[in-house]
Amino acid sequence: MVDEILKNIEKYDTIIILRHQNPDPDAIGSQTGLAIILREAYPQKKIYVAGIDLPVLDWIGSMQNVSPETYQNALVITVDTANSPRIDNNGDYKKALKIIKIDHHPNVDPFGDINWVDENISSCAEMIYSLTEKLAPLNISKKSAYSLYAGIVGDTNRFLYAETSYRTLNIAAKLAKTGINISEIGLHEDEMSIQVARLEAYILDNLKITNSGFGYIIIRKNTLEKFNLDDGELDHVVPLIGRINNVNNWIVVSEKHQNQFRVNLRSKNVSINGIAEKFGGGGHPLASGAYVGSMDEVYALIKDMDNLNKQKENTYR
Ligand code: AMP
Repeated sequence: MVDEILKNIEKYDTIIILRHQNPDPDAIGSQTGLAIILREAYPQKKIYVAGIDLPVLDWIGSMQNVSPETYQNALVITVDTANSPRIDNNGDYKKALKIIKIDHHPNVDPFGDINWVDENISSCAEMIYSLTEKLAPLNISKKSAYSLYAGIVGDTNRFLYAETSYRTLNIAAKLAKTGINISEIGLHEDEMSIQVARLEAYILDNLKITNSGFGYIIIRKNTLEKFNLDDGELDHVVPLIGRINNVNNWIVVSEKHQNQFRVNLRSKNVSINGIAEKFGGGGHPLASGAYVGSMDEVYALIKDMDNLNKQKENTYR
């Protein structure tokens, strides 16, 4: 599989790297990290990163404008993206000669011509790193290490989550060895704006916790608007509810547009991706997302999450 990916990287002169909508540090870090690795190994090739630029993550890297025609002769590599509707692209990627999917979510939609998916790995950035161990021209520089380290730190929540392994730490150490400022990256991922701090205060004041240990907050449109968040900032508050010791699983529901609710689902041990899929979304057993279109659906999802804690067979670990 990895050999096949490397053969295709060698074969194509134009490579466009894409990632998922609402990107997080792992999406941007894997995308820009892979681009830097390929540009350094093959200066003659055209390597692009495309998608919407998210100012809160531009400390990791920024995107490029790629014309629709460019896709026609290109190899497209998607990183960190489980299903094709979530690719941050208007559909131009379908014109590509070949699509390679590199991901660490459950492989619910193997949309690539080649699909390299390993859901036991902490972050997509870790997978990108391992490409450099397999193909001689691909090497880690200080520049690519910065992006990949940001991805690993982001998806493990600073080495907190269960997928963090010896391998993760070993790769993080090798990236650190390039001389990147690991403290700067950690601080970037930890810092928040005053708007996010105020939203966290609101959440702690208003969240509900059921007897089963399910925590939830619903932030309606008029409330959300008062916080005046930048795109992507809402993601910062998602881990907060899980820090409460008797919370086992939780959701953050936010209504950005009237009756369009984004739901971030999280869990400490019961698998929640089945519920996310039931409501049209998806993700990992312990971190998933979905969009729902009414408060009735929000309440149905809340009921399912609460019930999940009562059924032992749902335990993920
Ligand atoms: P989020 O809550 O948006 O941080 O997403 C948590 C995880 O679920 C990420 O790994 C996403 O890739 C995945 N995810 C989020 N939203 C969706 C969706 N609508 N469909 C499929 N997967 C999603």
